[in-house]
Amino acid sequence: MSLLVVGSVAYDGIETPFGKIDRILGGSATYLSLSASYFSRDINLVGVVGRDFADEDINLLKNHDIDLQGLQVDESGDTFFWKGKYHFDLNNRDTLDTQLNVFERFDPVIPAGYRDARYVALGNIEPSLQEKVLDQVQKPDLVVMDTMNFWIEGTPDALKQTLTRVDLLVINDSEARELSGEPNLFKAADKVRAMGPSSLIIKKGEHGALLFTGDEIFSAPAFPVIDIFDPTGAGDTFMGGFLGWVAYTNDTSPTNLRKAVIFGSVMASFCVEKFGPERLKNLTEKEIYDRYREFRRLSQIPEVD
Ligand code: AMP
Repeated sequence: MSLLVVGSVAYDGIETPFGKIDRILGGSATYLSLSASYFSRDINLVGVVGRDFADEDINLLKNHDIDLQGLQVDESGDTFFWKGKYHFDLNNRDTLDTQLNVFERFDPVIPAGYRDARYVALGNIEPSLQEKVLDQVQKPDLVVMDTMNFWIEGTPDALKQTLTRVDLLVINDSEARELSGEPNLFKAADKVRAMGPSSLIIKKGEHGALLFTGDEIFSAPAFPVIDIFDPTGAGDTFMGGFLGWVAYTNDTSPTNLRKAVIFGSVMASFCVEKFGPERLKNLTEKEIYDRYREFRRLSQIPEVD
């Protein structure tokens, strides 16, 4: 089933305790669609790039069967650029530079052929733009949205308005606390779900994720990645794996959403092993399914009498 992905397509500069790279492909829509492409063959990307966007990067997306009819090329400027630095605790990063460039004028126009998408991934962009996307699509089965502290603090009203139209919100633990004003994550989840999204995923970085759907809570384990190199894009990659699986199976039942959370975690665990989206370029089905089984094995709790 078709998956519509809207978000940033970028170049990033990244510094981690393990190395530094001045310019590498990035952006929420890039990570989302590359990750989802390992499951779904019907991915439609909407975003904008500038005159400097390399053919090599277009080809990478095309080689993953990502449809780029909705990728605008704005020749009047350069591609969005973001630069970040991670510290020894990789959960903390500083944004060193954000050059919006052509992203400043981004107006998400959804091509006619994308409007009947069954699944919609709203990457982390301004909430009013996310809502504009929803104005153009017909009646998706599942709308999943990401956001960040910047919008929670900067445009709370627009964010709350967009949330009323979303089925599932994916945020991290600090964002859940900030959005709800509630330190306890389970109480925070109730408050966030009361704002609109019937389901919620709270990511806890290297400590796993919580899925709230219907009356169920599912606690997904963390995968012990030994070689964490660069966490950039892990959140988007998680969402891409999650939605790629849901779109491929066309099943939003609670049991299938649990599987999707694990596939999201599997993809994120690969993403962090190399710089930027490098590790997402050439994964095999075997690597992905082996790691899914490893996740299962890790979380088996023995019975007691
Ligand atoms: P994540 O690590 O999952 O939060 O995603 C990192 C990606 O988000 C990077 O590749 C950046 O290019 C992109 N990014 C950073 N800041 C923004 C922003 N303000 N709007 C859109 N995308 C951004």
